[in-house]
Amino acid sequence: MKVLVIGGAGYIGSHVALELLENKHEVTVFDNFSSGQKVNLFPEEKVIEADIMDYSSLIKCMKQGYDALIHLAAFKAAGESMIKPQKYSDNNITGTINILNAASRADIKNIVFSSSAAVFGEPDYLPVDEDHPKNPENYYGFTKLNIEYLLSWYDKLLGIKFAALRYFNAAGYDPEGRIKGLEIGAENLLPVIMDIATGRREKLKIFGGDWPTKDGTGVRDYIHVTDLGKAHLLSLEYIVNKKESLILNLGSEHGISVQEMLDTTRKVTGRPIPSEVVDRRPGDPAKLIASSKKAHEILNWKAGHSDVETLVRTAWEIYKNG
Ligand code: UDP
Repeated sequence: MKVLVIGGAGYIGSHVALELLENKHEVTVFDNFSSGQKVNLFPEEKVIEADIMDYSSLIKCMKQGYDALIHLAAFKAAGESMIKPQKYSDNNITGTINILNAASRADIKNIVFSSSAAVFGEPDYLPVDEDHPKNPENYYGFTKLNIEYLLSWYDKLLGIKFAALRYFNAAGYDPEGRIKGLEIGAENLLPVIMDIATGRREKLKIFGGDWPTKDGTGVRDYIHVTDLGKAHLLSLEYIVNKKESLILNLGSEHGISVQEMLDTTRKVTGRPIPSEVVDRRPGDPAKLIASSKKAHEILNWKAGHSDVETLVRTAWEIYKNG
């Protein structure tokens, strides 16, 4: 297939593009390189440097004709989205409307969209399945949920088939080391710990040490980006072949605490990684675990690289040289 990957130079997008290339698809990356990096591009790819806020660029690009597009271009800092909602409205919502309108004009009928576990907010029960109530705790999650609604309407009204993939906590790097762009400045746990291991930051602030979890620190479902890449490919094949839309939770179904991530990184890197327990971060749940039963049943997909050692080791292989 000829696939347009919007945000394909980013951390997750580049892993998705790699999976497509490995399966002999033709990939064009559309990216404004605001957080995407040239080092994440592959020689086989065509590249369009442009912004999803520029509707005419999208129209021009999509005129080339694509069988499908994968949309991963979004801002993702939950905390920032509460301070600068306009930025998230513009890029995440308006940008996606631009993509959907351009795609419908170009008759592109298959879209895979990066959604997020942030659509759920504080969990009512665990593991979180697809039917769990949606009450986003932050504006970022609100943008993702509303894009899911937009996609459903474009399916109903225009026959655009979509897969909305709700990632839990994406982490790790391609185990073969082919993706080298560091997630500099990201506020997520593993990139922050890696920045401390490499001396870019000083100390890990552990947001709360008295959570009702096994060791008192927050527990999340970390899903390896290579597993995510595979899920994109399988979802794309599904919507194209079945002509049916799909909403899926993607996680490992396994919880890792902040302390476990820290201890494993100390062991793998041999670096001390100073840390201190500070106040809880507003909006954080104690524990978040996905049910990926639906992805398993429908796509025969299961996480295969998402154990704590593999997550840390594959990230460290890239960070130690970066
Ligand atoms: N966390 C932490 N210190 C940090 C960043 C994250 O203690 O500097 C914790 C956070 O409270 C949560 C887990 O690590 O329990 C994952 O947070 P992250 O921001 O990576 O993802 P989120 O679950 O918020 O989407």
